[in-house]
Amino acid sequence: MPEITRTIQQATLPLMEDFYTIQGEGYYQGSAAYFLRLGGCDVGCVWCDVKESWDAAAHPQVAVQEMASRVKKSGSPIAVITGGEPVMYDLTALTAAIKSESIRTHIETSGVYPLTGMWDWVCFSPKKFKAPDASIFNRADELKVIVYNKSDFEWAESFAAKVRPACQLYLQPEWSKEKEMLPQIIEYVKAHPQWQISLQVHKYMNIP
Ligand code: SF4
Repeated sequence: MPEITRTIQQATLPLMEDFYTIQGEGYYQGSAAYFLRLGGCDVGCVWCDVKESWDAAAHPQVAVQEMASRVKKSGSPIAVITGGEPVMYDLTALTAAIKSESIRTHIETSGVYPLTGMWDWVCFSPKKFKAPDASIFNRADELKVIVYNKSDFEWAESFAAKVRPACQLYLQPEWSKEKEMLPQIIEYVKAHPQWQISLQVHKYMNIP
């Protein structure tokens, strides 16, 4: 049996939740997508809205093949691997299992550890609470910066200068600060049109 097949059959990862929904953010906003939220995160964002994901041990270990078959059964053309912080794990077996079902692999990550696995789309969302590993800059297809206060525009530019020229640039208001920050983001994007606005439209649609 080839090594990767053996690995796919044996590999498990902590899974907090999984659901079929509409991608609410960034480049694929509005597209049907199956989310796999892995447990475990050591980044520690103060405004994190999924703090229950942080403790990996609190979530069941699920076989990567089982995860891939759940995506397949849903009919979704896209699997989004999120967290938590998925790059804490070796994602080679998970992405191989999903791709063997001819499903696209997307990841949402703060890039704090080197990325493993085979990815069709990498959304890099840096966080101030833990610096990213520099290897993510050449892998990111999308840079999504959460804007919590005015200083975040300069911080966002520091990453825009490091990613590939083709990388899509998004500014997204932090949900609890949206009323305050969205008008500033609108003016910023008008003055710096290489950026686009990302809104968490799934929250407006009342879907996960
Ligand atoms: Fe929460 Fe994501 Fe920050 Fe981890 S990286 S603390 S899951 S927002």
